[in-house]
Amino acid sequence: MSPIQVSETNPGDSRKETSRGDGSSAPPGHQMSTLAVHAGESRQKPGDSITDPIFCASTYTFRDTQAIIDFIEQEQPREEYGRYGNPGERVAERKIAALEGAEEAVLYSSGMAALVGLLMTKLSSGDEVIFFNECYHRSREFCRKHLSRFGVTTIDVPTGDYDAMRAAIGPQTRMLISESPTNPHQSVVDIHRFAKLGHDTGVETLIDATLATPYNLRPIEAGVDYVLHSATKYLGGHNDLLAGVIAGSQKMLEPVRYLRGIMGAINGPQNIYLLLRGLKTFELRMARHNENGQRVAQFLEAHPRVEKVYYPGLPSHRDHDIAVRTMRGYGGLVTFLLKEADWRATADVVDAVTIPRIAPSLGGVESLIEQPLVMSYYQCTPQERAEYGIPDNMIRLSCGIEDSSDLIADLTQALDGTS
Ligand SMILES: *Cc1c(COP(=O)(O)O)cnc(C)c1O
Repeated sequence: MSPIQVSETNPGDSRKETSRGDGSSAPPGHQMSTLAVHAGESRQKPGDSITDPIFCASTYTFRDTQAIIDFIEQEQPREEYGRYGNPGERVAERKIAALEGAEEAVLYSSGMAALVGLLMTKLSSGDEVIFFNECYHRSREFCRKHLSRFGVTTIDVPTGDYDAMRAAIGPQTRMLISESPTNPHQSVVDIHRFAKLGHDTGVETLIDATLATPYNLRPIEAGVDYVLHSATKYLGGHNDLLAGVIAGSQKMLEPVRYLRGIMGAINGPQNIYLLLRGLKTFELRMARHNENGQRVAQFLEAHPRVEKVYYPGLPSHRDHDIAVRTMRGYGGLVTFLLKEADWRATADVVDAVTIPRIAPSLGGVESLIEQPLVMSYYQCTPQERAEYGIPDNMIRLSCGIEDSSDLIADLTQALDGTS
């Protein structure tokens, strides 16, 4: 059976069930913690199990030939082959769509696979994408180095410069892309203004809201077309899985799901189980991440060795006003600069902390710390680092769900003990 037939028949089932509450034990209107626990799940599950079982199957059987024909002709809601989806994944997609307030969500094996899948679906040779320039370095790399090979042009404009973005929009522009908040500078985009720019010009809009999550930012409600998350971060939340997701309207995601079935960037059943398990506590975790981020940011701003703190919840942040208008809380990520410009003095602070672990990534229960110069930009030239705004004395701290007083005591000993 060709992938085309599969796409026309198979996604139909999830389409009918993805809107908030449909087919789930959490009706529309429930609060986020209730949705996190119940949305997307059937009330009575196979084996009367309270959890969704892990179906370790790469393929799904048909009773006889007529069953295949009925499946195709009647668009029956059932599985067919593992690359097109699996039962747990459909549950996770419905749960995330409910959390996001979106009609539909399509899961991928990583955040980058989600971005690549969306852009490969939507862009053709001759098209242009416009980016706000502060963004995840692999997203930038994919657009600049790889989409260019297929004749797609990437234009970047300074983050938050809506006039520059508008001026850059031409007849070939197909997508406006931004993160909010951005990584690692935590610039916050006015998502209402960004969505309006897209609507006024007939161009689709994408917000990578990985750092904010649906707890803190509601891009779909603001009129943005697509929301992307690296579910590796807060949605999974436990530093134990990779996944990515795009949320949006049924109609606009239908071709995206179809191409995913060809790309094969899908989650295996065990990975999906971890994601579903992580999502149960999403609301509780986010409340603590927000609290820890705010407290740690305030502590750092007052510390004599700290030059500058990038945290949208601080009144000193450039986009604090936009953050207050558009966000519920400001997340667990805190970026800061030491007064010493020296990379080694900065590395000494990173090496002296005892609770946060030294690692890339963010959004998990364990706090993580890193020096972007070393972790992500080591092989860039000094000019590139200047262009991307990555000074030697920058530290990025992802506050986990530990107690903030322990994190602050640890940072105190690390900053005071290495000065
Ligand atoms: C981590 C991250 C990604 C990429 O996600 P993966 O799951 O690692 O592929 C994309 N955008 C942002 C903002 C991220 O932090």
